[in-house]
Amino acid sequence: MVEKSAPTAKQPPEHKVGVMYCTNHPDRETYLRCNKCGRPMCIDCLVLTDVGYRCHDCIREQQNKFFTAKLSNITAAVVTSMLEGIAITSVGIVLMAVISLWGLLLAPALGGLAAAWSWRAAGRQQARHLKRYTTAALLAGSIVLWGTLAIAGMTALLTLLFLVIATVTFYNRMP
Ligand SMILES: [Zn+2]
Ligand SMILES: [Zn+2]
Repeated sequence: MVEKSAPTAKQPPEHKVGVMYCTNHPDRETYLRCNKCGRPMCIDCLVLTDVGYRCHDCIREQQNKFFTAKLSNITAAVVTSMLEGIAITSVGIVLMAVISLWGLLLAPALGGLAAAWSWRAAGRQQARHLKRYTTAALLAGSIVLWGTLAIAGMTALLTLLFLVIATVTFYNRMP
């Protein structure tokens, strides 16, 4: 076993010279550090981000700066997305009826446009899971209209394909 020296006031107990120990788990050796605050951390205490290993404290701090949307921004974006879902479905039904398969080519454009409007409705303020909430709202609007018309026998499966393409584009474009 490793020799233990008395822990100092601030630092975790030093076990071996030249070896780092996790800030949260003083008994775990590590060679990793959070690349923002520089504290040594074990692999369980770090998350591999786009910019390298970060500790949970630094990630939370970063996210709080990043997520600036108020509830009103999120609500506006969600409501807008739902209306867009209804609008896209309506356009899709008409397109499928008039130009059939060719109409599918317009689905990505509509999905992209809807994402831009939803983002504007959010006041261009990011929120945790905004992408998921707005996509779910878009899908909800689409499915309600499509489902209602499908039950009435007024829409084709092709329209559903149109909606899938538009929704996937929306999800990819939404910031
Ligand atoms: Zn950190
Ligand atoms: Zn740890």
